[in-house]
Formats: sequence, structure tokens, C-alpha cells
Amino acid sequence: MKKLTTLLLVIPFLINAQVDTRIYDIIDAVSADHIEKDITTLVNFGTRHTLSDTTSTTTGIGAARRWIKKEFEQISKECNNCLDVFYQKNFVKKGDGARIVKDVWVVNVVAIKKGTKYPNRYIIMSGDIDSRVSDPNDFTSTSPGANDNASGMAGTLEAARVLSKYDFESSIIFVGLSGEEQGLYGGKGLAAYAKEKKWDVIGILNNDMIGNIKGVDGIISNTDFRIFSEPVPPTETDNQRNARRFYGGEVDGISRQLARYVHKTTKTYMPEMNPMLIYRLDRFGRGGHHRPFNDAGFAGIRIMEAHENYTQQHQDIRTENGIAYGDKLEHVNFDYAKKLTAVNAINLASIAWAPAAPEKVQIGGIVQPYAKLVWTEVPGAKGYKVYWRDTTSPTWDNFKYVENVKGTTLEGIVLDNYFFGVSAVGANGHESIVVFPSGIIRN
Ligand SMILES: [Zn+2]
Repeated sequence: MKKLTTLLLVIPFLINAQVDTRIYDIIDAVSADHIEKDITTLVNFGTRHTLSDTTSTTTGIGAARRWIKKEFEQISKECNNCLDVFYQKNFVKKGDGARIVKDVWVVNVVAIKKGTKYPNRYIIMSGDIDSRVSDPNDFTSTSPGANDNASGMAGTLEAARVLSKYDFESSIIFVGLSGEEQGLYGGKGLAAYAKEKKWDVIGILNNDMIGNIKGVDGIISNTDFRIFSEPVPPTETDNQRNARRFYGGEVDGISRQLARYVHKTTKTYMPEMNPMLIYRLDRFGRGGHHRPFNDAGFAGIRIMEAHENYTQQHQDIRTENGIAYGDKLEHVNFDYAKKLTAVNAINLASIAWAPAAPEKVQIGGIVQPYAKLVWTEVPGAKGYKVYWRDTTSPTWDNFKYVENVKGTTLEGIVLDNYFFGVSAVGANGHESIVVFPSGIIRN
């Protein structure tokens, strides 16, 4: 009898465990003042162009990256050396691309908060160190890059400050990438380094321009933001592509699932925000540092403002026809950058507190009045959520929660009319990214 009472008390707790109040603490801890201070410091380096001076202590990308490293080291000092801070660099030869007009070391600044349980599993948050003006190869002119992309860099530093106060099961990487404007070189270098080190990369949240709220179209919003994700990995095989024709998955690649995860966490904990799932790799014909991770087969998304102002990106500072061009500090909304930093921080935390995703999910129920899903057991998972949605819905709208099983049947759900996925849920309520089925059960 006593056992039964305990059980009854425990069950409502577990159901409520889907919300973790620590996540609200994380949102509250993100500081707009810190972000303003850091963007200001970055702007004051004059230019952070990848090919700019590296010897000065006050200007150029060398001074900027040394300052970023020192900031990470300071954060680490305050959490009992909880971060591994280092430079990850690659030598790029003159002429490697049209924007590499001289030999250069592309240097990223990396800070890793090691996971307590799964140190080799990594979720990454990135911003960019480098900036540019109208001519991408002009490495001497003043190039404040306040929004593009000191905002993402400052957000990354601030997320590190906030999350360094907690322990996580999986590792979190905070990184300032270089060489973005010259051809995504820093991301390419770190993605290759991750492969070489055999890191199990869950994905990257790439932050590029998270501080502008006034669009060139006249729209002003401090709650809209965009989550860009490509539909399917560029590394998929011909077999995988063929399978998609018959079993679906055109809009269900690993990056898209990461995007949906960020969308859902934001809706749950920051309902005042308006996350927009954008079904494309990036803006039309434009690039960002999540792409080299996608190229390497890793999940990666771009988080950014919804309303861009092109007169304040990649521009020489000047006034022309009454328009003040330039990516200057005065155009950045620090409170908005703080909100998008919080979006990152809560997703990093939730992913790093969650068990791994099931490695393989299989689906069956062809010509049956049910759908059946089976998956590989995940160590540390308390249960699993089996999701389904209308084929036209962008979000995982329905789920069934199950415990202590490696499969379940959804009675009355006809396989043909929905898409399905499975996530693993920890005892703390945090769940992994959803996995789309990659195998068929034929009976
Ligand atoms: Zn840019």
C-alpha cells in the first residue's frame, strides 16, 4: 500500500517534469548590458577583417581574437576552470579563393564545457569574429561589424558566462569563428577538426546577425527571428535519395529536426518570441557558417534576426542620398540580441541535459490500420516520445510517450497520412532531437 502511494505521488511530478525551472533561470541570467559591452569592445578593434593586422594590441583581428580568448579564460576562471579554451587554426594559402589575397592563418577561438556523462558528444554555439566593408578584400578600412557579426560573437560569450554556472551531461562548445566573409573558412576548419577528433557532433547553432530589429522593408519587430535549416543533408547517398521518393523525408533531414527543436523549446519557454522556421539553407544565394558543418554531414542551423537592413551590412561607412550606410553600434538592439542569446542558451542546455537521440528508428504498418515504430535503446533515457504530424505541418504536433520499451504501435494511425519521428527523454524531462525513421519493418 505504501508503495502505491509513493507511485501516485511520483507520477504527476514526472508529467510536469517536461518543464525545467532552471531554464527560466537561464533566460533571466542573460544580460543585455554584457552583450552591449562586448559588442562595443569588438567594434572598437576598428576592423576584424580576417586578413587584417594581427600584431597590434588595439586594432585588427589579432587583437580581437586575443581579447575573445581572454574573455573565455576569465569565464573559465570564475567556474573553477570549467572551460577548455584554445585556438583552432588553419593555414590558407593566397589564391585559395577570390577573397584570399594573401596567406593567412584562419584562427577560431574555442571554449568547451565538458559533459559530465558524455564528454565526446557536442552541441555547438557559434558567432563570427570577422567583419568586412563593401569590398570584401579591403582589410584596412574601418569595419565595425556591430551586427554582422559582433552580435553573434557577444551572444556566444554571454551564453558561455550563463551556462558555465551549470553542469551538463553532454559537452557544449562556444566558438568564435573567423574567415566567414572570405568564404566560410573558419567553419570549414572546425568541422574538419571535429571529424579528425571523432567528435560526436549533435549540431551547431550558428548565430549570424542577431541584433537588428528594423528591417529595410520598414517592419520593426523585437520578437520575430528566423531559424534557417536545409531540408536534407548534402551528404546523403543515392540510395537515401531514392528511398525518400517512396518513404518520405524531403523536409525531415537532421538540420530540420534541430530547427524544429529550437522552435519548440522557444515556444515552450519564451512564448513571447516568434520563431520562424525557414525551409532553406540560408538566405537566397547567401551563406553562413553552419553550411560547412552541413557539408561535413553534421546538423546545423542559422539563427538570425527576421528583418534585415542591407544598408547596414557589408558597407563602407558613408552617407549617400541621405542614407547613412555602415554596420554601426547605434543600429544594434541589445535587448533583442539578449533574447536571441537566451534562445541559444536554453536550447544548448536542454540538448546537453537530454539523453542522446535514438541511433536508428524503423517504421512499419504498410496496409495496416496502425503505425508501428521501433528504435535502438538509448542509455540514460527514461522514455521515448513517438511523434507524428500531418504531412503539411512544419512542427511535430502529436506524440505518445512510452517508457521501458524499444517500440510501440499507434493504433488507428494510418502510416500513409502522417510523418513520424522518435525522441529519447531523460528523467529530468529533457528530450533529444527527433529522429526520422531510416528503416522499414516489413510485416
Ligand atoms: Zn556578413
